[in-house]
Amino acid sequence: MTTNDAVDWSVDLGGGSRAALIQAGTFRSDAGALFGPVPRLLWDRLVTDEIDNDNRLLQALNCLLVETPAGRVLIETGIGERLPEKVVAMRGYEGKPIVAAMEAAGFEPGSVDLVVMSHLHFDHAGGLLRSDGSKAFPRARIVAQRGEWEIALDDNSRIVASYDQPELRLVREWGSDGAVEGEVELVPGVSVIPTGGHSKGHQAILVRGADETLAFFGDLGMRPWSANPRWVTAFDDFPLDSVEVKGELFGRAADEGWLIVLSHEPVMPIGRLSSDRDRFRFDPV
Ligand SMILES: [Zn+2]
Repeated sequence: MTTNDAVDWSVDLGGGSRAALIQAGTFRSDAGALFGPVPRLLWDRLVTDEIDNDNRLLQALNCLLVETPAGRVLIETGIGERLPEKVVAMRGYEGKPIVAAMEAAGFEPGSVDLVVMSHLHFDHAGGLLRSDGSKAFPRARIVAQRGEWEIALDDNSRIVASYDQPELRLVREWGSDGAVEGEVELVPGVSVIPTGGHSKGHQAILVRGADETLAFFGDLGMRPWSANPRWVTAFDDFPLDSVEVKGELFGRAADEGWLIVLSHEPVMPIGRLSSDRDRFRFDPV
């Protein structure tokens, strides 16, 4: 299934700010790895319709184009156009990469002022360059946490396996010009909040309009079941931090009624969180 031919969803946040969901294709991830420490007995029934013969789940590459009176912000860039054919097949990557998906949705990549990424794993930072090596968003400042750039290029062998380091080295200088440290309001209404957990320098992105607040929790909020703070993926490098920060941020989201966009949910990525015993529930809108 690919659902990336146009803007699938957009919302008026009030005060001249809008956000549009742009799906930059899909890929497939091992189901067990996505559920991390959770026993299969508990998650099996959630995915019976979508698990494939290789025990993988379909994962959308959800990006957001946020228009504010102060500028255009793209959140996430997906996998992009530079993956070798062999890796494309291995990852089950299909659909339009970010530039083509944006253009199909009527947005000009050259008009983007800021590209904000939750973290620098291949499926979030892969779309910064075109296939010919040119910048996909020539005018944009690239925003990730400085600590994420540092860890992404570390020589720990698990880190080497989770990041596409040769690609990141090509954009390192561009990225380090725009890197941030800590919680920062990038333009009025658009903030990043460091979370750690999934990766050392992982961050959430918050967009506050006059009427609505929209939150993108990156890979701390991949799929509806991520609403349980203890359901963390095997890809989370610092799972205890994930559990703690999810509990805290999801609590704020539930109390204040934030709109949530999930990073990899293919079918119902937009919703709100509500408290449910010692966890939260994701209710699609
Ligand atoms: Zn991801």
